[in-house]
Amino acid sequence: MLKIGITGGIGSGKTTICKVFETLGIPVFYADTVAKQIMTSDSILMQGIKDTFGTQSYFENGMLNNKHIANIVFSNETELNKLNALVHPAVFRAFEIWDAKLPKHLPYSLKEAALLFESGSYKMCDKNILVTSPHTLKIARVTQRDNVSEEQVLARMSKQFTDRQKLKMADYLIENNENKSIILQVLDLHQQFIEMIKF
Ligand code: ATP
Repeated sequence: MLKIGITGGIGSGKTTICKVFETLGIPVFYADTVAKQIMTSDSILMQGIKDTFGTQSYFENGMLNNKHIANIVFSNETELNKLNALVHPAVFRAFEIWDAKLPKHLPYSLKEAALLFESGSYKMCDKNILVTSPHTLKIARVTQRDNVSEEQVLARMSKQFTDRQKLKMADYLIENNENKSIILQVLDLHQQFIEMIKF
């Protein structure tokens, strides 16, 4: 079974496209959702966070002290890198456990991650898909979806590689714009991945 990574800038539509793959029976691992979940369930990760950012990183009831962590890592790249160095391997462990339990007859699984290239986890996938969308459309979609300002979206975008950088690392491209059908593009890739495992 192949492991396919899928990524794209904020608001590019990667989650929407993963939902189309799911309708074809392809299981999707949503790395960003899992990252939030394991902050309070992966004991190795939790210990690493306490050792790095202090025991006050968790409340007595085991909940994550988001405010404490955010205060440390917000606008401090060194601290953010330390957090990422703890979280990314933990997400990788969770993905491997999840993937190993999937039925073996499936042609491939998808790993959706906003920072697939930035984190280096694309190297652990057999192939990687980049989802792109016009800049103005991404901003319009995210401001509407999250009820946030354009400045907030631009601030989030500045923490990600540009599409130009990501294109160099991607094997496949899905263009999510108003002129192209995402369903047809997904069906085309689905067929290519099925063909790939036959050889
Ligand atoms: P993030 O990185 O912020 O999680 P994302 O890349 O996963 O974003 P989505 O959440 O899939 O992006 O899409 C952003 C918004 O745009 C959503 O509200 C989604 O419904 C909408 N959207 C995405 N693609 C399309 C499309 N082709 N047609 C209509 N709406 C779309």
